[in-house]
Amino acid sequence: MSIPLIFESDRPALSCGYSPHDDLPAEIKGPPAHLLRDELDLPQVAEPAVMRHFVNLSTLNHHVDKGFYPLGSCTMKYNPKINEALAGLPGLAGLHPHQPVETIQGALELMYKLEKFLCEITGMPAMTLQPAAGAHGELTGMFVARAYHESNGNPRKIVLTPDSSHGTNPASIVMAGYTPASIPSKSDGRIDLEGLKEALNDDVAALMVTNPNTLGLFEDEIDEVAAAVHEAGALLYMDGANMNALMGLSRPGDMGFDIVHLNLHKTFSTPHGGGGPGSGPVGVVSSLEPYLPRPRVIREADGKYNFDWDRPKSIGKVHSHFGNFGMLIRAMAYIRALGPDGLKKASELAVLNANYIRHSLEGKYKLPFDGVSMHEVVFSADNQNTHGLKAVDIAKRLLDFDIHAPTVNFPLIVHEALMIEPTETESLETLDRFIEVMLQIDEEAQNDPDRLREAPLSTPVCRMNEVLAARKMDIVYKPE
Ligand SMILES: *Cc1c(COP(=O)(O)O)cnc(C)c1O
Repeated sequence: MSIPLIFESDRPALSCGYSPHDDLPAEIKGPPAHLLRDELDLPQVAEPAVMRHFVNLSTLNHHVDKGFYPLGSCTMKYNPKINEALAGLPGLAGLHPHQPVETIQGALELMYKLEKFLCEITGMPAMTLQPAAGAHGELTGMFVARAYHESNGNPRKIVLTPDSSHGTNPASIVMAGYTPASIPSKSDGRIDLEGLKEALNDDVAALMVTNPNTLGLFEDEIDEVAAAVHEAGALLYMDGANMNALMGLSRPGDMGFDIVHLNLHKTFSTPHGGGGPGSGPVGVVSSLEPYLPRPRVIREADGKYNFDWDRPKSIGKVHSHFGNFGMLIRAMAYIRALGPDGLKKASELAVLNANYIRHSLEGKYKLPFDGVSMHEVVFSADNQNTHGLKAVDIAKRLLDFDIHAPTVNFPLIVHEALMIEPTETESLETLDRFIEVMLQIDEEAQNDPDRLREAPLSTPVCRMNEVLAARKMDIVYKPE
């Protein structure tokens, strides 16, 4: 690696001799003297070296501000930076959760109205903003389902999921005390209605469906699925993490879903991928509203906003205070800036971009399932596999072109899966370059397969033992 880092350079003569004038405002001059420590053993380096050190460090990892990030099911889209600035406004970022409600009317209004917007987008009558992530939304939804069935006298035992379901689905089912049972998909990648009907009985509490499913396909028999599930007295849950495929086009509530979660940190403008806070609101039909987490934000007759804690059937709290408020601000800004037409356009572009890639690569990369894609397209690396290559070799080679790898080996029902989600924020030029690189990689698979097996060759660290890297993580800098 040729990038200059400053950990080991220490030359007092280089230290910064440029000190600000005494009459500058305090915040420009830096930390006050009483907070500065002399004894810290920091390298003595000049300002340009410090700047280059941090800028270079910031680009060692791939990120969406640096390059294309088509990681399937993760919606690694570019989020407007102005929404970061809005969430950081002192009047919002400086709020304390224990402030009296008279002093946080604006924040409560934001929550109240965001809930209404998300209800409109999903077609659900009520929504909680408390859960902190998609999987947390699933867990909350499962608790609501359990509370509902318990109040009918029998919590039931099983929650069904299609075998294409997102990995968090069975995990949330188990955490809510249910037993997950998988139903096989049909040869077209959709739920097998007959198989579902056979699996439904009095023990089934719910069916949890990712729609569009993890193959990027819309569940086109969802009406019939909903009817069968309701007939059995069970609830229909939608994993709506990838709502960027549907906004303004169709609504879970209209499809017959009883519970749906959203990922604000995918569809609605919170950057993610670095493990920062997220938000996974959960919408429900009216009959499930009493079970939602408390408190709920309400608007009283005089127009004032308040918290309603008096909710005896509520499953209780699922997050400290009221959820991750900063994400709610970003979502509100995003929805207000785009408006109904803009949200619809975003979904149309997400779908168009995925299908553009599908169409451009289908001659060279195998498509395991026919039909139009939604927000993502899943290929199989089977064609390249005939040269002894795996999906991961293609993924690693992409890194040499400053493109993040797609999701590989998921969904599990596709052999050597390459799951590509371009998102709505990428330009035609970016998509064309990606397609060109993918076609070049296919050429290499035929003519120079070893190059793919050795890739990546241009990243700070090359092919790693991934098991060791995860099990024996070594993240502390040691001088050579
Ligand atoms: C991302 C995702 C999840 C999980 O969301 P987290 O916020 O990471 O917990 C669940 N389901 C689907 C379909 C997803 O894409």
